[in-house]
Amino acid sequence: VIRSRIAWLMLGFLTLFLFLTGVIAYYQLYKGEEIAREAAAMRNKKTEIQEYSRGAILDCNHLPLTESVSAYALYCLPGDIKLSGDQEVSENKRLSDAAKVIGSCLNKEPELIYKQLIEGKTQGRGIIRIASDLKPQEIQKINGSNLSGVIVAPVLKRYRGDGFCAHLIGYVGKAGDNTGKAGLERLYNSLLEGSDTGQEIVSVQDARGITIQGLMFRIRQDQQSQKSCLVLTIDSRVQELVEKVMNKQVQKGAVVVMDVDSKEVLAMASRPTFNPYADMQDLISHDQNSSLTNRALSRYHPGSLFKILVAAAALEEKAVDVDDIFECNGSYRFNEELAISCWQESGHGKLGFAEAFANSCNPAFIEIGLNLNQQILMDYARKMHLTDETLIGYSKDKEYSYVNIAPVKPAIANACLGQQGVMLTPLQICSLIATIADDGRWAPPSIVRYTVDKQGNRKEMAGIRAKEQVISKKTAQTIQEIMGA
Ligand SMILES: [Zn+2]
Repeated sequence: VIRSRIAWLMLGFLTLFLFLTGVIAYYQLYKGEEIAREAAAMRNKKTEIQEYSRGAILDCNHLPLTESVSAYALYCLPGDIKLSGDQEVSENKRLSDAAKVIGSCLNKEPELIYKQLIEGKTQGRGIIRIASDLKPQEIQKINGSNLSGVIVAPVLKRYRGDGFCAHLIGYVGKAGDNTGKAGLERLYNSLLEGSDTGQEIVSVQDARGITIQGLMFRIRQDQQSQKSCLVLTIDSRVQELVEKVMNKQVQKGAVVVMDVDSKEVLAMASRPTFNPYADMQDLISHDQNSSLTNRALSRYHPGSLFKILVAAAALEEKAVDVDDIFECNGSYRFNEELAISCWQESGHGKLGFAEAFANSCNPAFIEIGLNLNQQILMDYARKMHLTDETLIGYSKDKEYSYVNIAPVKPAIANACLGQQGVMLTPLQICSLIATIADDGRWAPPSIVRYTVDKQGNRKEMAGIRAKEQVISKKTAQTIQEIMGA
C-alpha cells in the first residue's frame, strides 16, 4: 500500500514536472520572440530619435558616418501646446503665445516658430521638431517655462558639425525639405530617403485624449523593420586621421588615400570644409574660399607629379635609361628668346635619371619628354587611364580632366612639368601612383562597396574585375625605386 502511494506520488510529481517543462518550453520556443520584442520596446524609452528618416551611410567596417552624434531636440505637440493659464483662447492664439515663449527661450524669431507650428498642424503632424541642437541653457529655459505640449528629447544628429567627411556625404535640404542636395546624399537620395527607420514618436494620451504630462510621448521602435544603407570603402579611422592633420596643416587642398591592391578609396577629404547645417544659400553667396568644392575631385595642374607619367612613358619606350646622365645649368633653353628655368636657379649640375626624378629637375625632364613626342605622352596618359574619371559608386556631373599637348617643343616641355595642357584631379594622381605601386596594374577606383535597399536587397557596386597591366612590371618597379630614393 505504502509503495503504491509513493508510486502515485512520484507519478504526480512527474506529471507536474512535465507540465512545468512544457510551460517553460512554450514560452521559450513559441512566445520567446514576442517577449523579447516587448522587453526591447520597454528598453526603447531610451532610444534616441533620428534627426532625419533616412538610410545610414556606413564606412567599410560598418561604422556609421551619419547619425553618430547625439544632441537634444525640441518637439512640440501642436494639439497640446499651450501656456498654463491660456485656457479658453483660440488655437491660433495658443500657438502664437507659445511661439513667443519658445522664441525667447531659443533666441529665435517667434514668427518663424509660429510658421513651423502652423505648417506642421496643417500637414496633420502630431509632433513637430522645432529645433535640433539645443544648448544647455536653452534646455533649462524650456523646462523652466510654463509651457505644456513641448518636449526636449535626445536626438541622433545626421551630421557632425565639424565638417567631417562633409564633401563626400553632402547634406539634405532645410526646413522640411529632407531630400539630398549634395554629395552621396544627393546621388543616393532615392535609396536613402524616407527609409523606414522603424521609429515612431507617439504621444501618450489618457482616456479623454489629453496628453499625459511627463509621459508626453514615447518612441515606438519596430525591431523587424528594414533600413536602407550605403556601405562605403572609406575607413573612418583613416578618414579621421587625415582630417585631423588637415585641420592643423592644410588651409586649401585635398587628400586621397587609396588601397593599392583593391583601388578602394580609404579616405578622401577637402579643405576648407563646411558645416552641413549651415544656411547653404548664404554660404554659397559668400563662399570666397569655395569651401563647398570637393577639391579631391576638382582639376588642377598636377605640376611635378606629372613627371611620374613622363618617367613611365620614357622607360617603357626605352627613351631613357636609368644610367643616363643629364646636365642642368638652371634652365632649358629652346632658342635665344625662350627658356624654361629649373626651380633650382643655380642648376643641379650633372645628375643621373634617379637623381633628376628625386630632385624634380625641370631641364632633365624636358629633355626626356622631348625625346618622346607629344603623341606618345598623350598615348601613355590614355593607356594609364590618367584622365579616366571613373569612381565606382560616385558619378560626376561633367568631365573635368584632360591631357592635351600641342605638337611644339615649348608646349611639350610645359606639359612635362605638369603645367599647360595637363589638368588632373588629386584622385587621378592618387590612382596613377597606386598603379605604379601595384607593379603597373590599373583598376578603376571605387568609393561605394554596396547598397542595401528598404526591402533588404543588396547590390554590389564594384564586383570582381580583372586588373589591367598598363605598363610593365619592370618599369613600375623602377619608378617605385626612384620614388623611394
Ligand atoms: Zn635642375
